[in-house]
Amino acid sequence: MSKLALLGGSKAIDRKLAPYTTLGIEEEQAVLEVVRKGNLSQFLGVWHEDFYGGPRIKKLESEWSAYFNTKHSVTVNSNTSGLYAALGAIGLEPGDEVIVPPWTMCATATAPLIWNAIPVFADIEPETFNIDPKSIEERITPRTKAIMVVNIFGHPAALDEIMAIAKRHNLVVIEDNAQAPDAFYKGKHTGTIADIGIFSLNYHKHIHTGEGGVCVTDNDHYAERMQLIRNHAEAVVGPKGVSDISNMIGFNFRMTEIEAAIGSEQLKKLHGFTTQRAKAAAILDDGLRNLGGLDIPVVKEGCTHVYYNYGLQYHAEQTGVPRAKIVEAMHAEGIEISGRYINLHLIPMFQQKIAYGKNGFPWSADFYKGNVSYEKGICPVAEHLNTETFLGFPIFSYAFPPADVEMVVEAFQKIWDNIDDLRQI
Ligand SMILES: *Cc1c(COP(=O)(O)O)cnc(C)c1O
Repeated sequence: MSKLALLGGSKAIDRKLAPYTTLGIEEEQAVLEVVRKGNLSQFLGVWHEDFYGGPRIKKLESEWSAYFNTKHSVTVNSNTSGLYAALGAIGLEPGDEVIVPPWTMCATATAPLIWNAIPVFADIEPETFNIDPKSIEERITPRTKAIMVVNIFGHPAALDEIMAIAKRHNLVVIEDNAQAPDAFYKGKHTGTIADIGIFSLNYHKHIHTGEGGVCVTDNDHYAERMQLIRNHAEAVVGPKGVSDISNMIGFNFRMTEIEAAIGSEQLKKLHGFTTQRAKAAAILDDGLRNLGGLDIPVVKEGCTHVYYNYGLQYHAEQTGVPRAKIVEAMHAEGIEISGRYINLHLIPMFQQKIAYGKNGFPWSADFYKGNVSYEKGICPVAEHLNTETFLGFPIFSYAFPPADVEMVVEAFQKIWDNIDDLRQI
């Protein structure tokens, strides 16, 4: 049995694992073509045919709609911008409440504040880390307008249950699908099940354009409003003859022709990448399944998982070794694991209710009739995962040819073989 690296032995992972890369000659050629043509963006921020962007933007949007089987795709310059556009499009009023999960990238929870609406945190499910329908239902008030669902780590949320709750209470659902492109829920692509879905094309996601995002919807009204918010709406609503001008404060969320050209090539590769990653995850599953006190990611019936992150749970009471010690041992072996994710309700902005200015706006404004709590304890499952049991393996960082995955599996097994030694120190 080889000695733990933490105790002076050699590292189980003694070479650099191949990093995940998505770019090839296809993207190179696509970029060259745009650069040679000379028009790096063709958007005009006035009412004109180029208000909707140039040829590559239109091409990517139609390809995206075809691939995901959705009526409209609206490209934007990030998933974050897409969240802002979507929440503006649905007609949020100041003081409306939007239910959000605490386990997500911060933009999901911050986006309602852009429209002076109030984020309300619902707890998550322990198995999938996704927002819990039961907790959503408990958080609904007369002020609730929308639910933000994140298919976190690449596994679909309980979308049927959530859509049914929304229907009963007349709420809009927005799917932040940044981490789950190409995942399926009961035969449908995630991102296309709610009223609006948003995809990220930032550098860390399954496919990317550097920065970028795409909003999808089957709703004509929402699509038009997102197109307006993307591109200086206030200057366009008059000439375009738009009557509902609420939230038509336009940003510049436009994607460039270069990014769109790259996006078209990346989209063709998406399914190959997610298939490859599922294979790596299957090897990890097989190798880690029998390690005591460690739960591998769950894939629920009717769901596929695209493994943006490989989320494990660790039960120290079963091994007698605290999580921090296991993480330390893993780092010593060369496994880049994280012993926490995030609990957004606990970040300073929510704890102090300070967003715009110093006086607690928008929570303190007259238009807000509620009194939302962000206290520690409101999301016990999410908090417990963070403080006690969660282990996140950033599978997205690696290309993971089988030899590399095997090496990671052996590193885990080495630690478990030496668990008695870890218990002693
Ligand atoms: C990455 C990510 C975002 C932000 O995406 P950007 O394109 O960087 O703005 C939002 N939500 C989730 C869940 C993400 O993972």
